[in-house]
Amino acid sequence: MPISAIAAHAAKTELKPHSYDPGALGAHEVEVKVTHCGICHSDLHLIDNDWGVSTYPLVPGHEIVGMITSVGKDVRHLKVGDRVGIGWQCGACLDCEICIHGDENYCASRQATCVGHHGGFATAVRSDARFAFKIPATLKSAQTAPLLCGGVTVYGPMKRFGVRPEHKVGVIGIGGLGHLALRFARAFGCEVTALSSTASKETEAKALGAHRFIVTSDAKAMADAANSLDFIISTVFANLDWTHYLNLLKLDGTLHFVGVPSASLEIPVGSLIGGRRRVSASAIGSRADMLDMLDFAARHDIGAQVEIVPMAEANAAIDKLRQNKARYRMVLANP
Ligand code: NAP
Ligand code: ZN
Repeated sequence: MPISAIAAHAAKTELKPHSYDPGALGAHEVEVKVTHCGICHSDLHLIDNDWGVSTYPLVPGHEIVGMITSVGKDVRHLKVGDRVGIGWQCGACLDCEICIHGDENYCASRQATCVGHHGGFATAVRSDARFAFKIPATLKSAQTAPLLCGGVTVYGPMKRFGVRPEHKVGVIGIGGLGHLALRFARAFGCEVTALSSTASKETEAKALGAHRFIVTSDAKAMADAANSLDFIISTVFANLDWTHYLNLLKLDGTLHFVGVPSASLEIPVGSLIGGRRRVSASAIGSRADMLDMLDFAARHDIGAQVEIVPMAEANAAIDKLRQNKARYRMVLANP
């Protein structure tokens, strides 16, 4: 059966209908009827070919929740009718040293859901079943879809870099990833600071879990906050003056990047040396991170704050995200 999707047919263009034949179902694959798909800023980077990896027609969408409609002959742990989520990654070799260590999100043969593969802005999507995750029953589909990329991308480094309840955590950029970082950091028990370029987000950021809100253009507020944070996660794609953010770190503090600025970082090494500070970065999360994140989200009732729009209105939703007007994740829904 052909799959009806919407696709970019060239860089920086509107999405248009695109139908494709997915071929025979692989032995380890599942086909999922998409009910909801979040719009991550990475989808916009792909549509625009910002990273030089896009091939067209490009069907975006990697924050997917839906129902399994068929399973390959070697799929054991999932069955038709299961509600699952699929994120940025839909495959890896699972045999290499990196995969064996549980870091399959860094496998040299990793397959991205919408790079050289058609994503979730569609009626259905295919994935290796080992990258489709059962959604805990208490979580709602629309609010959970953004956890499959945005959620695990901010949860993973907090876990890996040892964020503890006594820590003071800063979040740069209160968008799709950033608002989830506020919720996760708050649920970790941390004191949470939102660092935003948009003053009008203050009330909502505090409702999402921030104890403190700093407008990053306020030089005095930034100076007053010097040496106050243990861990800062940056979710912005803008090229900021990172010196100001390093100054916010306490001794042994970490500035962690998940957002992808277009320019190389200019980092004053003296600030790192003087405060024994670290700069780090990470890509999405492993399958173990995904399971832990979904379990943690279910226990702490964490979901995205979403605006749900019909799949047919994807172009308007993309425009809203481009204008930084999404509050805080646009989610496409199929009828
Ligand atoms: P988003 O929803 O658009 O949020 C980005 C936020 O950055 C905005 O809400 C805004 O927050 C801030 N921002 C935007 N323009 C800015 C500017 N000119 N100056 C300062 N701040 C600005 O995007 P997202 O979906 O969260 O994705 C964010 C980034 O993470 C993207 O680069 C995406 O590709 C990347 N990403 C990485 C991974 C990974 O594995 N590492 C996974 C998913 C996404 P304020 O209004 O609060 O300033
Ligand atoms: Zn994403």
